[in-house]
Amino acid sequence: MAKIRITKAYKFDMAHALPGHDGLCSNIHGHSYELLVTLIGEPVTESASPKLGMVIDFKDLKRIIKGLITDALDHSLVLRNDTPPELLKLMQQQYERIVVVEYQPTSENLIIDFATRIQAALPAHVKLHHLKLWETVTSYTEWYAEDN
Ligand SMILES: [Zn+2]
Repeated sequence: MAKIRITKAYKFDMAHALPGHDGLCSNIHGHSYELLVTLIGEPVTESASPKLGMVIDFKDLKRIIKGLITDALDHSLVLRNDTPPELLKLMQQQYERIVVVEYQPTSENLIIDFATRIQAALPAHVKLHHLKLWETVTSYTEWYAEDN
């Protein structure tokens, strides 16, 4: 059977700060991200299956990515877990979407986090082939299963 790659694109707006950065990125600022998720697998051949001819139903992929990533991160502010606790507490009291991560929230580290969580959530018959995360219109990072 032929292996097929399928890709779906997601957009979300997210703010972050990169503490310790030697430039403007140490400030709170935002990006309109675009995440491309590419899976690889064989189309279903079982004629009675409602997913006949599909590697994965795009709607099922959407549900997975929404649940893992875009629902939590869209219009959120992502901060590192060493942000002063009194500041974090104030922010969390004032704003709904404050997401605390244990890593510097660069697009490199975000894409590693996304890859780990997507791989764990996918059904067994499909594999994550790669992710591409656009941070600005001229910058993106990529994660490839074959590199890792
Ligand atoms: Zn940034």
